Amino acid sequence: MEPTTLVVNCGSSSLKLALFDRKDQKLATVLVERLNTPHAVARIQGLETQITIPAEGGYEAALQAVLAALKEEGLMTSDPTAVGHRVVHGGETFREAVLVDDDVLESIQACSGLAPLHNPVNLAGIEAMRKLYPTVPQIAVFDTAFHQTLPPRAYRYALPDHYYRQWAVRRYGFHGTSHYYMTREAARRLDRTPATTSLISAHLGNGCSITAIRDGNSVDTSMGLTPLEGLVMGTRSGDVDPGLFDYLSTKGITANQLSKVLNQESGLLGLSGQTNDMRTLCDLADHGHEPSRLAVDVFCFRLAKYIGAMMASLSQLDALVFTGGIGENSSRIRQQTCSHLGLLGFDLDAELNHAHGGFSDGIISNPDSRFPVIVIPTNEELVIANEATRLAGSPMARDGAQ
Ligand code: ADP
Repeated sequence: MEPTTLVVNCGSSSLKLALFDRKDQKLATVLVERLNTPHAVARIQGLETQITIPAEGGYEAALQAVLAALKEEGLMTSDPTAVGHRVVHGGETFREAVLVDDDVLESIQACSGLAPLHNPVNLAGIEAMRKLYPTVPQIAVFDTAFHQTLPPRAYRYALPDHYYRQWAVRRYGFHGTSHYYMTREAARRLDRTPATTSLISAHLGNGCSITAIRDGNSVDTSMGLTPLEGLVMGTRSGDVDPGLFDYLSTKGITANQLSKVLNQESGLLGLSGQTNDMRTLCDLADHGHEPSRLAVDVFCFRLAKYIGAMMASLSQLDALVFTGGIGENSSRIRQQTCSHLGLLGFDLDAELNHAHGGFSDGIISNPDSRFPVIVIPTNEELVIANEATRLAGSPMARDGAQ
């Protein structure tokens, strides 16, 4: 029986599963939507059949239904040999992926205050899988772990010291799994080792973040204590003046209301008044819709400013890397962003930039560009699978810890 690794990404209303073999081939992908409602359904990618998810029984029942369907369809012929879980927040406790045991579960729980919408559901997924497969090693892979190499000058906010000491207020950074994958892949493409590769990595999806990577380590990143800071995103504002809180309180806006606005009603959606979808925005902008054009302009300008800012952490730059739905697919956003950076030297080749999108990848800069610019499709699931496979084969896992 070929050993397989299952990757579980458990959200509050969705659940994603991916099954990999040991040659990094994906055998199946499942997406469960409207989870925890009576209308939950699951779909196996590439198949028509819909899997009905029981309305009761939470994550365990949903996982059980999905795994049974995978077996029925012949996509999963035996129990997985390892299970990797995406966990959003590892605080300062987790600098790398870990084999899950009771202490690890407690520590993930302890980080929940920093990610109240994510960590509890990530934990529910781990607990459900432990029940379903009590002898299979479960591995937690953290979005924050890659950024634990940030130096204090990059992770500390200029706030009273005890905010950090007492309440752990600092920059953590997110999308770490994706930025790590960029490092690994860019190094391969540049014929270097990750440990000698320095990059600026821009992950541009619905959430957007940018990271400076020096000799393989994250040394600065745009997301902060929460994934709200930094770049303009689909519905998140990114950076705003903290004085906004005070000013808007005089207008009767409460902290709760403002938090909802900054997270769900701002960014591309807020500026355009239309949509958080970059493709649609670009179409609207082309048809003369001014607010959409402005949304695209603000997005690209903020991104360009951050690319400049990330240079402060580097003494060498091997490439600027674009990834995520927007970074991989939108030659226009890449072009408009780089057009602000003439002084720094990111010179795109129009033809190459246009050719690379969708599922292709590669260098899109001019051979004369001071710095290469590369498009690399991200693959966070593969990183989680690789980490899970690696740790499941470790002596600790073989000794029976799970
Ligand atoms: P998530 O963060 O939810 O995983 P994705 O990485 O899938 O999101 O990115 C979604 C974004 O990518 C959306 O704004 C979508 O419009 C954008 N996108 C996808 N294809 C294109 C394209 N061809 N041109 C511009 N934007 C695109």
